[in-house]
Amino acid sequence: TVRTRVAPSPTGDPHVGTAYIALFNLAFARQHGGQFILRIEDTDQARSTPESEQMILDSLRWLGLDWDEGPDVGGPHGPYRQSERGDIYKNFALELVEKGKAFLCYRTPEELDALREARRAAGGHTALKQSDLALPAAEVEQRAAQGLPYVIRMVVPEGEGVCQVDDLLRGTIELDWGMVDAQILLKSDGMPTYHLANVVDDHLMEITHVIRGEEWINSAPKHKLLYEYFGWDMPVLCHMPLLRNPDKSKLSKRKNPTSILYYQRMGFLPEALLNYLGRMGWSMPDEQEKFSRAEMFANFDIQRVSLGGPVFDQEKLSWLNGLWLREDLSPEQFAARFQEWALNPQYLMQILPLIQQRVEKLSDVAPLAGFFLSGMIELDESRFAHKSLQLEDVRKILQFASWQIDNESVWTKDQLFAELKALADGMGYKIRDFLFPLFVAIAGTSQTVSVMDAMAILGPDMSRARVRHALN
Ligand code: ATP
Ligand code: GLU
Repeated sequence: TVRTRVAPSPTGDPHVGTAYIALFNLAFARQHGGQFILRIEDTDQARSTPESEQMILDSLRWLGLDWDEGPDVGGPHGPYRQSERGDIYKNFALELVEKGKAFLCYRTPEELDALREARRAAGGHTALKQSDLALPAAEVEQRAAQGLPYVIRMVVPEGEGVCQVDDLLRGTIELDWGMVDAQILLKSDGMPTYHLANVVDDHLMEITHVIRGEEWINSAPKHKLLYEYFGWDMPVLCHMPLLRNPDKSKLSKRKNPTSILYYQRMGFLPEALLNYLGRMGWSMPDEQEKFSRAEMFANFDIQRVSLGGPVFDQEKLSWLNGLWLREDLSPEQFAARFQEWALNPQYLMQILPLIQQRVEKLSDVAPLAGFFLSGMIELDESRFAHKSLQLEDVRKILQFASWQIDNESVWTKDQLFAELKALADGMGYKIRDFLFPLFVAIAGTSQTVSVMDAMAILGPDMSRARVRHALN
């Protein structure tokens, strides 16, 4: 039976790209009466968080991308979280060492830098092979005796030659072995890298088709070698085109919101977002633009995926969402959807406690809280009028704040305040003055709850989009 999977790393907000890949994996599995698995690839312990994992699960479920096996629903091939499978990877790494297909490497970071530098100076590939990394036997013994840290690396072909990789959409791809380095499989802390964990799990979880973003094509030669070394059948590979910004560059949060939470907060319906993701590189046989998940699955054919980079365009998504809102919902359903979106207890309990202390009547709530239920705030210059800031200051502050929050990886009120305060100090503004333009960008006015609270609740992508919008 066909088994596909999506394997997100829980290192940030749930990405629309993850939902897009999940959708095509699910469609492929359903079309073949197979299974779809969700695996959490959290071997990067420094960057992975349980909060991110939870948001990914919640977002995919909100979209209706249900999995048959996964960390929360279990299944016969668990655990489905890589951090809980450490011993498995270690044993497989050691098996490769025994077979002579992997080796212990005691090189220090300084030595590695020097090796790469020498390689660059000579104008060659920077890929380092076993022969480059080898140390004299006595030196290895000495470092081992001292208990110095080591990693396990895979043996890769040296010299000329190409690796041929078959791809369901692209046919045979040729990649130069010269570019492929002796990849680390097991890090010095005993954790596997993506490559080892991914291959081992795809095998043990009996994945038959790996459908993933094209950014992983360059990893395919390493994976192919690993399957050969272990003597395992390799799943069929299928690399999907990456989503693009309207300017055709790779979709990135600096230009376009990428978090599913943003699209939720903006008031897109999950069925409309899913419909739109289904049109990324794919179309119905009759070119019909509005279709449900069931219709997509009934007509799915992976060969209809076109490799030209699909543009994720919020305007088109809005148009499609409008069709869903107007054509598919009765007035009662529309009211219920609005209530669920705007007035659900969880959202209200984030907002109303902040507002309660500032009101005299219930009718004071909507003017103070309306910006939590809005998309972009319509602004004109007069709103930014301030006794100690010129328009030029406003622009400068918004620009620098925008760059700052683009780079923010920990999105909490305290962290945001600390970073923005440091920025204000560095630019020579009083924090009160500095926050004024941000207030206006985020809430339309400074006469409301604290802008730090507002940004924390609205989330990174909505906040970034509003600041960018204010700059335009
Ligand atoms: P950004 O540039 O906005 O920070 P990123 O590339 O750093 O995005 P990651 O957090 O690395 O995003 O990726 C999260 C998930 O989303 C990964 O599974 C990745 O494959 C997927 N992804 C990222 N960008 C795209 C894209 N343009 N198209 C499809 N999937 C993508
Ligand atoms: N963890 C990888 C990611 O975040 C999975 C890539 C793959 O599907 O092999 O995209």
